[in-house]
Amino acid sequence: MTQITIIGGGIAGLTTAFYLQKFMSEKNCPLTCNVMEMSDDVGGKIVTKKFDNFTVEGGPDSFITRKQSVLDLCRDLDIEDKQIPINSYNDFHILSQNKLVPLSQGLYSGIPESLESVYEMTALSFAGKVQMMADIFLPPRLLEQDENLADFLKRHFGNEAFETIYAPIMAGIYGASPEKLSIHSLYPQLVELERKHGSLINSIAQLKGKSVSKNPVFKSFKNGMHELIESLTNQLDCDIKTNMQIVTIKKTQSGYDIVDSKNQRHHADAVVLATPACNTTEIIADISDNLAQLLNKIHYTSSATITLGYKLSDLPASLDLHSSGFLIPFKQNRNIMGCALASRKFNYRAPKDVLLIRAFIGGPEKSHLVSLPEDELLNLVNKELSDILKINCDPLFHKLFRWHNGNPQYEVGHRDWLSSLNSVLSRLPGIYLTGSSYYGIGIPDCVHHAKITAEKIASDLF
Ligand SMILES: Cc1cc2nc3c(=O)[nH]c(=O)nc-3n(C[C@H](O)[C@H](O)[C@H](O)COP(=O)(O)OP(=O)(O)OC[C@H]3O[C@@H](n4cnc5c(N)ncnc54)[C@H](O)[C@@H]3O)c2cc1C
Repeated sequence: MTQITIIGGGIAGLTTAFYLQKFMSEKNCPLTCNVMEMSDDVGGKIVTKKFDNFTVEGGPDSFITRKQSVLDLCRDLDIEDKQIPINSYNDFHILSQNKLVPLSQGLYSGIPESLESVYEMTALSFAGKVQMMADIFLPPRLLEQDENLADFLKRHFGNEAFETIYAPIMAGIYGASPEKLSIHSLYPQLVELERKHGSLINSIAQLKGKSVSKNPVFKSFKNGMHELIESLTNQLDCDIKTNMQIVTIKKTQSGYDIVDSKNQRHHADAVVLATPACNTTEIIADISDNLAQLLNKIHYTSSATITLGYKLSDLPASLDLHSSGFLIPFKQNRNIMGCALASRKFNYRAPKDVLLIRAFIGGPEKSHLVSLPEDELLNLVNKELSDILKINCDPLFHKLFRWHNGNPQYEVGHRDWLSSLNSVLSRLPGIYLTGSSYYGIGIPDCVHHAKITAEKIASDLF
């Protein structure tokens, strides 16, 4: 029977296994599939801790619904009833001159949907708003060469809007400096809108008019994001081995030998590496030095999240509990990138008398902070919360999660890098790569590409 091994038990690895199993049973093809995961649990960056009626997310807290793949996966897993909507998403604040000011209600995928939305942006000066509004006069343009996100956004919205609004949003999403990130890889839809209409504000206004989605923009699961992982593992008819670190793969006459850290060998006809590219580099080196060198080119930044629980009665009356949280522009040189009011964003996260605040640390300039001892990190966050939100009481508890090299950077040229990768891979039959290092960092992107990988394996092997 054909043996397929998936290395890495994050969302990408588990989804590949799930769809592989589904496609094979539809085709009536025999298959054994196993997943090898180095840590003691599956889920990778999807970590949910549940205790005393609290649900705390260590990594992702939600998925975007404009990309269909997670919604489809939930349908295929029959867990649509477990999804919960975000309470509201457009009420983020920005720290501006030591004050929290509302971002704007009228943003669609981060782009103002009208000139009124720009006018409402209290974080911008009058001149900043005028610069941003000038976007509506930009003519259509075909962006053939890749461009960095910073140049693209400045060209449309000006320097002030870029520094005050977009740089902090990008840091929050990618943990990265927009000066390096690729517009072609991360926002091909914006490149397409620019090609068709020039102005992003005008094109978003048209898109919004046509949009009929009833879905909230973000969703999560009642028991936290790990509920998706549990549903996947419950429905997998394959052997999931945890605490199994893979160190290398060797080519054999009949396929591949996968070697674990205890030097045990496991045969496979095909191998899916659903590990971050920085880990895959080492595993793959014995098979293809070319591939290892290419994989080594992708850069990562580190980040950490600290969730703190506060009794509502201990918090200052000035705290705006209707906000989802706030972002901090780089130029303010703070030690946190921003905070989410986690128990306001989603229901079922904390008892009613407790507020969960999740602070984000690290990113492009401050990855080094992620390695600080826990008490120092906590002090640093407490100091910022005291300064910004005037919270001076001790939290009931805190939970820290560190993500060393957790954020892959899709730098300018990422698409060319992928082409080179695919050309090397085409000479390595039976080897597949998937996960957040390649075709999108969000969970919907990982799920989408995992499904494509399963389809490709099914058509290559059967
Ligand atoms: C703080 C944070 C917040 C985020 N928030 C969101 C969000 O709200 N929404 C969203 O859509 N995305 C979010 N993301 C991004 C998203 O979580 C990730 O891109 C996605 O979970 C990556 O999934 P993956 O399966 O590709 O990789 P991972 O989750 O990294 O899984 C890879 C697995 O491979 C295992 N592994 C590595 N090396 C080996 C080896 N040698 N042998 C065996 N196993 C190995 C690892 O232990 C891990 O379990 C966030 C990321 C972070 C860090």
